[in-house]
Amino acid sequence: MYFIANWKMYGDLKTLNSLDKVIKFSKDNRKNKFKIVYCPPNTLIRPLSKRLIKTKIEVGAQNCHESENSGAHTGQVNSKMLRNVGAKYVILGHSENRQIGETDSLINSKIKSSIKSGLKIIFCIGETLKERRSKKTNQTLSLQIKKGLKSIKNKSNIIIAYEPVWSIGTGLIPKSEDLIKSIKFIKKKFGKKSPKILYGGSVNNISISQLKKISVIDGFLIGGASQDSKKFIDIIKKTYI
Ligand code: PEP
Repeated sequence: MYFIANWKMYGDLKTLNSLDKVIKFSKDNRKNKFKIVYCPPNTLIRPLSKRLIKTKIEVGAQNCHESENSGAHTGQVNSKMLRNVGAKYVILGHSENRQIGETDSLINSKIKSSIKSGLKIIFCIGETLKERRSKKTNQTLSLQIKKGLKSIKNKSNIIIAYEPVWSIGTGLIPKSEDLIKSIKFIKKKFGKKSPKILYGGSVNNISISQLKKISVIDGFLIGGASQDSKKFIDIIKKTYI
C-alpha cells in the first residue's frame, strides 16, 4: 500500500522536524509492506531526502516542466533537476494544476520527460462535480487516461491517483460503491497490466475507516492530513487495524 503525502505549497525547513515521528514509525514497522512517499514543495526536496537517508521513506515532487533539458524557462524546474536533488517520484496532472490551464497534452509531455529522467509518476485523474452530475465520470477518466498516456508504451513507472476534483480538500468522499466502480473502470482500461491505483480526496484519520475496506485501492494520495505527522501515522495505522 502506498501512502503519498502531497504537501502542496506548505512547509519550511522547521516543519521537517515534525517528520521525526514518521521516521520512527517507519523504522518500527520496517517489516510492514507500506510505502511512504513525501512530496514537499521543491525547496524542501533536498533537505528532506538527506534527512530520509537510511529510511525506507522516499521523496517526490509535485510538478515539473515538460522538457528534461535545461532552457530559458524562468521559474521552472525539470524532471532531471528533481532527480538530481533526490526526488524519485513526481505528481503530474493534479487538478489544482489542471484548473490553472494544464492540458492533457502538456501533462503527457511532462510524463514522458519524467520517465526519461527516471522518475516514477503519480498521474492524477478525476472528474469535476459537474461532470459527475451529468454522468460523465467515465468519459472524463477515459479521456484523461487516453490523452495523458498517449504514446507511452511502458507504463511500469506509472501509478494512477484517482482524485475526484469535488473531493479534494472538501471533506467529501465518494460512496464506496461509486468509488469501487470508478477504480474498476480505470483498472479495466489497462487490462492485465493495470498500474497501481491510488485514491485521493479528503483522506483523513476518520474517512480512512470507510476507505480501507475497499480492496481494489492500492494506496492513498493525502493532502491536508499529511501535513500533520500524528494524523498521517494514524491513517496508516488505521488502514491495517
Ligand atoms: C490532494 O491534494 O491530492 C488531496 C487529495 O488533498 P486532500 O487530501 O486535502 O483532499
